[in-house]
Amino acid sequence: MSEIETDQNASFDAIIVGAGFAGMHMLHQLRQMGLTARIYETADNVGGTWYWNRYPGARCDAESVAYSYSWDEDLEQEWEWTERYSTQPEILRYAIHVSERFDLRKDIRFERRVTAIHYNEGANRWDVATDQGDSASAHYVIMATGCLSVPALPDIAGLDDYKGNRYQASQWPHEEVDFTGQHVGVIGTGSSAIQAIPVMARQAAQLTVFQRTPNFSVPAQNRPLDDDWVAGFKKNYRGHRHNQKYGLNSGFGDLKVELGETVPLADAANDISEEELLAGMEARWQQGGATFLSLVMDSMIDDDSNALFANFIHNKIRETVKDPETAEALCPTTHPVGSRRICVDIDYFETYNRDNVSLVNLLKNPIERITETGIQLADGHVELDSLVLATGFDAMTGALARIDIQGEGGEKLLDKWEAGPRTYMGLMMSGFPNLFTITGPGSPSVLSNMMVSIEMHVEFISKCIANAADKGADKVQVTKSNEDWWVNHVNEVANATLYRKGGSWYLGANIKGKPRVFMPYASGVGPYRELCEKVMDQDFRGFEFVAA
Ligand code: FAD
Ligand code: NAP
Repeated sequence: MSEIETDQNASFDAIIVGAGFAGMHMLHQLRQMGLTARIYETADNVGGTWYWNRYPGARCDAESVAYSYSWDEDLEQEWEWTERYSTQPEILRYAIHVSERFDLRKDIRFERRVTAIHYNEGANRWDVATDQGDSASAHYVIMATGCLSVPALPDIAGLDDYKGNRYQASQWPHEEVDFTGQHVGVIGTGSSAIQAIPVMARQAAQLTVFQRTPNFSVPAQNRPLDDDWVAGFKKNYRGHRHNQKYGLNSGFGDLKVELGETVPLADAANDISEEELLAGMEARWQQGGATFLSLVMDSMIDDDSNALFANFIHNKIRETVKDPETAEALCPTTHPVGSRRICVDIDYFETYNRDNVSLVNLLKNPIERITETGIQLADGHVELDSLVLATGFDAMTGALARIDIQGEGGEKLLDKWEAGPRTYMGLMMSGFPNLFTITGPGSPSVLSNMMVSIEMHVEFISKCIANAADKGADKVQVTKSNEDWWVNHVNEVANATLYRKGGSWYLGANIKGKPRVFMPYASGVGPYRELCEKVMDQDFRGFEFVAA
């Protein structure tokens, strides 16, 4: 690590933790309000997710024109995305460009991890410390630490015995990794692996995929962006952004407007004929992308409706994958489609038709242990030159849980969240005044195009802070009763959907010992925004503004 300048007893209006898209936008917004702010960031550059996840094939699953900031019209008009779904390097370049264009970097301290955030009740300020010895205090703290920023390693015996090259999708080396001529193994078949597998397969001599649970995936139908299409799109950027924010597609945008989609939306699969439904699914499949399920409104509510979509995808897998046994193993049957984030792929299922790719179905032939040279299965040993782990994240609470956060009376956030995260609207916790979370648990966050959810929260937090200033209030806080009400509401909404049946990281199910609580708010981005706007209009109902 290079020698770095530290903050000593520094004082700011606000400290932001994390310099991904959330932290950068928050910093810009606070500066516009005339406040002083500092970001602390572990990485040596901005970008968050797009800084860390450099595995082959990494790209966004929301379309680039929608997965981008909407708060600066010149930026929106001038930035040129080259593909429908941008690659990680292009998104990282965008993040760096934004940090330079808006001169954000001077207020960011890189290469340090925030270790402690303690509320000093007497001063009504937060004391913040980092692993590099920074000490600073601020009136407000904003956690922009990311929902998917803490990698999870698989709980497999012998992991550290392996003597070959080991890579983790979420902590990929910055230099190029060349698999040419190698026998490569991948553990995991989530979104990361599904993007990486087709790319690695084109390079490796042999690629073996170790799959425990198959996942639903829809084709991206990626393509270079056509200049005329982009020019037309940019003419109505405000209209598109409005659709992202208020529409029914979880912030992904309104297909009808953006891509000329003509299939009518229906409330229920039952409301339209089987032919119409199949034609609609086929059209969406050909069109590509994560909005496949929003063809009808009840696909994530009604088991029967959902099963129709699942069957459609099963049939696509069977049509694509030539080996019937491999095709069956790739068909997800243990969870409703969409109850885990639907994957968006480029040639994922097609890749299994390659001679140099094989699938190990761990449900039939489990891993016994990792050895010095490969993977010992119940039946057979697979020799590997390189092992790739695409085993996910300690999602939503992981980054917050790794910081010693103490609120009023020295209450630790970890203790407060022992039985699962508790927030009011995913934005604040009772007992932790003036501390906000961007895309915190209890907000739509990971169930959406996260750019849209990040912007909603940055807007809310900024206005909340401005409101406190207008009122002469020093403290913004939420009550325990409001928090309890919200937690119940989040659960009620989740219970009305099929999400809980996913058994996924949405529920903490991938992390040993983590409470099984459905963490995101499943109402959808549009309704959540309307609620946020109503709360703001009603003088931030549910939030208390207290003068010290
Ligand atoms: P992050 O980008 O995760 O940034 C958080 C930052 O906080 C990180 O840089 C981290 O180093 C830093 N940090 C954390 N803890 C500390 C600490 N204690 N001290 C200092 N710094 C800290 N969402 C979509 O909507 N569409 C997509 O296509 C999409 N693709 C994704 C692909 C991958 C591979 C992954 C993992 C996630 C993807 N996501 C996607 C979700 C993605 O995380 C969000 O879209 C978005 O980038 C999150 O931005 P953020 O700023 O909130 O968090
Ligand atoms: P993930 O979806 O949690 O997938 C992790 C994979 O690792 C699963 O297949 C899991 O199998 C497997 N696994 C974990 N432990 C294992 C073990 N001990 N043995 C065998 N297999 C094991 O993680 P991810 O792929 O990194 O994606 C996480 C989220 O990041 C996504 O849902 C998405 O929100 C986001 N993301 C988006 C994109 C994009 O398209 N733009 C790309 C990457 C990530 P089980 O399911 O059986 O546990």
